[in-house]
Amino acid sequence: MWYTLILSVVSVVFGLVLGSFYNVLIYRIPRHISLVNPKRSFCPACGHQLKWSDNIPILSYLLLRGRCRYCNARISFVYPIVEGTTAVLFLIAALVTKDILSMVSLWMLFSGGIIITVIDLQTMMIPDFAVVITAMGGFLWAFANQHVILSLISAVIGFGIFLIIYLVSKNGMGFGDVEYFGALGLYLLPYDLIWAVLFASISAIIFTIPMLLRKKANRKTRVPFGPFLILGVSIAIFLGGRI
Ligand SMILES: [Zn+2]
Repeated sequence: MWYTLILSVVSVVFGLVLGSFYNVLIYRIPRHISLVNPKRSFCPACGHQLKWSDNIPILSYLLLRGRCRYCNARISFVYPIVEGTTAVLFLIAALVTKDILSMVSLWMLFSGGIIITVIDLQTMMIPDFAVVITAMGGFLWAFANQHVILSLISAVIGFGIFLIIYLVSKNGMGFGDVEYFGALGLYLLPYDLIWAVLFASISAIIFTIPMLLRKKANRKTRVPFGPFLILGVSIAIFLGGRI
C-alpha cells in the first residue's frame, strides 16, 4: 500500500519534470536550437529569459493564465498538456506493471510517443532520437518479459509491412513511420501486430475523414501516422494481455 502510494507520487513528479523537458526538446529539436545554449528557457514570442517560477510544470501555466509574464503573448496550451499527459501515462505505467524494468520501458514507450505525436503533428517529421528511445525501451521490455527473439521477429515483420506500404503509397507515409513501427514492434509479439495495425489504421481513418469531407485533403495528402502508431501499439499491448 505504502509502496504503491510512494511509487505513484514519484511517477507523477518524475513525469511532470520530464514532460517539461520534453517541451524543450519538442520546441528546440525541429528548429535546430541547441539544448544547452541558451541554457535557460525563453519566451518564443519576446525572447525574454524565463525565471524558474515561470517554469513549474502546469502550475506556472495556470498562475500566468496562459500568458507570458513579460510580453503577454499567449503560451501554447500544448505545454501543460505534454506535462500532464506524461505524468498520467507514467502513473499508469507504474500501476499496471509488476517490475521496475517493465515500468521504465513503458515510460520510454510513452515518452517517445508523446514527443513524436507533437512533433509529427506540428512538422510531419518523426525525430530519430525519439525512435531510438522507443527502440531501447522495446529491447528493455522484451528482456524484462523474456521474449527477445519473438520481439525481434515482430520488429522485422512490422518494419517489413510498413516498408511495403511506404514503397507503394509513395507520398502518404514517411520513412520515419516505417522506422518507428519497427521500433514499436519490439514491444509486441508477432500476433499482436494485427491489433496494432488494425487500431492504428482505424484511428488514422477516423482522423482523416473530416479532412477529406472538408476537401482539405486528398489521397496524396501526407498523414502524420506517428500518433496513430503509438496509439495502436499501446492498445495492442493491453489487448495482448502483456500487462
Ligand atoms: Zn514573452
